[in-house]
Amino acid sequence: MRYKLLILCTLAAVCILLTSLKKHPVSIYAKPVLKTIIVDPGHGGTDQGAHGLFSTEADVALGVGLKLGKAIQKEFPDIKIVFTRTTDVLPGNLTNANLANRLRAQMANEYKGMNSLYISIHCNATQKPGGWYAKRLVGTKPKIVYVGKGKRRRKHVIQEPIYESYYVENKVTGTETYIWAADRSDEKSKFVPGEEETGENVQDTLNVLDLDSPEARIRATLYTKTFFNSSYLFAKYVEDEFLQAGRTYRGGVKQRNEKGIWVLQATGMPSVLIETGFITNKQEEEYLNSEDGQLQIVENVIEAVKKYKKELESSSKPATLGAAVPSPTNNNE
Ligand SMILES: [Zn+2]
Repeated sequence: MRYKLLILCTLAAVCILLTSLKKHPVSIYAKPVLKTIIVDPGHGGTDQGAHGLFSTEADVALGVGLKLGKAIQKEFPDIKIVFTRTTDVLPGNLTNANLANRLRAQMANEYKGMNSLYISIHCNATQKPGGWYAKRLVGTKPKIVYVGKGKRRRKHVIQEPIYESYYVENKVTGTETYIWAADRSDEKSKFVPGEEETGENVQDTLNVLDLDSPEARIRATLYTKTFFNSSYLFAKYVEDEFLQAGRTYRGGVKQRNEKGIWVLQATGMPSVLIETGFITNKQEEEYLNSEDGQLQIVENVIEAVKKYKKELESSSKPATLGAAVPSPTNNNE
């Protein structure tokens, strides 16, 4: 009798549990908390990136990156900051930029998942630093020429063009913020956290899934989508801040397809690449190298981090954020 009662009770408990699970299906999205920010100053060492009149992209990226890490630490003492480099050498003291980019991603991937954010700092470049000399026609002057030979030789007056050399200022300015292209998000899903790496990122129910199972693949896709949407959300906040600060707007968040974006493809977390301005424009190069300019960029990015963190941590479904995403572009350097 006692046994029967025990079995009945157990059955009832299982029924209640199953019903409640049905009513409250476990979301695949745990409420993430922003715990780690990977600050990646682009280039460095043997790879100086783009050149301005007096500085290099590697210098600017390091200056802004170090200030950014420090400022995030001050604003959010609980967030762990990971720098991919803190001096003018490539990560790992490497000399090969491609290998260094792989190392950047590897360093970041120790903190895979929605609890992390990867911010890569770069500058843009186009044509020549500062500007270039060009010629323009300002008038003509008469010139005597002789045509023919012997008795047929005749004197002619022709008009010869007068050119003037003038300086064309490189006027291209502004910021651009890149995320990994959605149409190639399959690539990124390779870097989605595995079961043993997920930690608190994925709820327990998912950890029982076989990695090779269709469920795991669906999870990977969903996760990539989440990364994509979160990346877009953060990138949009960054662009909004730049716009408010009066920086030249170049069309908002962009997706990057071509090479040089290994870090966006290979990082298993929301990731963005910020082109902080054009080093090839004289004024913007001065701005990018100035204390005030770097601090303003940092302030803009910090504001975006604040908004992103708030949104991320208040939403149990970050995948629904940032619906309208632009189509991939291939412009710029
Ligand atoms: Zn760069």
